[in-house]
Amino acid sequence: MSSTPVAVVTGSNKGIGFAIVRALCKQFQGDVFLTARDPGKGQAAVAKLQEEGLHPFFHQLDIDDLQSIRALRDFLKEKYGGVNVLVNNAGIAFKVLDTSPFAVQAEVTLKTNFFGTRNVCTELLPLVKPYGKVVNVSSSVSISALASCSKELQQKFRSDTVTEEELVKLMTKFVEDTKKNTHEKEGWPNTAYGVSKIGVTVLSRIQARMINEKRKGDHILLNACCPGWVRTDMAGPRALKSPDEGAETPVYLALLPADANGPHGQFVSDKTVRTW
Ligand code: NAP
Repeated sequence: MSSTPVAVVTGSNKGIGFAIVRALCKQFQGDVFLTARDPGKGQAAVAKLQEEGLHPFFHQLDIDDLQSIRALRDFLKEKYGGVNVLVNNAGIAFKVLDTSPFAVQAEVTLKTNFFGTRNVCTELLPLVKPYGKVVNVSSSVSISALASCSKELQQKFRSDTVTEEELVKLMTKFVEDTKKNTHEKEGWPNTAYGVSKIGVTVLSRIQARMINEKRKGDHILLNACCPGWVRTDMAGPRALKSPDEGAETPVYLALLPADANGPHGQFVSDKTVRTW
């Protein structure tokens, strides 16, 4: 088993994830894994970074596929005995002009952004080593979407006692409500992406609490963040930040020094803790 520290970035064949891998290759003292659901795209991305003189490793990972997540888990366990840095970056967003029914957009978006990210966490968080860092890439849209929720939902999502099971039930209910076209009456905002990212931010708050309860003394720091508005296939060419600039906050959280006590369980953008 290798004692080399290891970092893993989900959805890193392009966009912000790719830029996070690039930055980690330069700044993280250890092996960096670029992962992609499509091995061809993943290997091509690795080759691109090799041309820059960087040396990421590759592992396949489709966060929608439990078998794929478990294969990565087993690999990390066997080869490294765990993981030091996990960046949950993979995500999707329907284009504004997409004509798919809202219920379809809700189901598909929640499947990857919330349920897929949660499955990765369920399988990999137990492997995170002492002093490890976990970064869940959410979005500032989670804050604006929260403000558009009913008072009752806002209270649940801001609660310091909400459980992961309750959160999963709420995310499932959103998808069900969109199918019945009752989501607005039930207090949900009209954004599937926004609700999926509320899920990621609240999940991060819950996971940080669980780490405090179950792994006190392990000094693990886990946060949600927004990379900003970044020029990628998701956000388009008019966005303000380059992918490398978008990677800055996730990388800052991934490389917090060993003696840092925080941030932990926070929502961070531009390296600053924001009020949830
Ligand atoms: P992007 O360029 O579309 O890249 C998304 C990445 O996620 C791609 O590598 C994609 O792989 C991967 N992915 C999607 N579904 C996956 C799955 N099931 N399993 C594994 N990988 C999967 O988007 P981006 O702008 O870099 O976004 C990265 C993250 O930042 C997302 O979580 C996004 O919500 C968040 N974010 C972005 C912005 C922005 O302005 N760009 C703002 C706030 C938050 P494929 O190439 O195979 O599709």
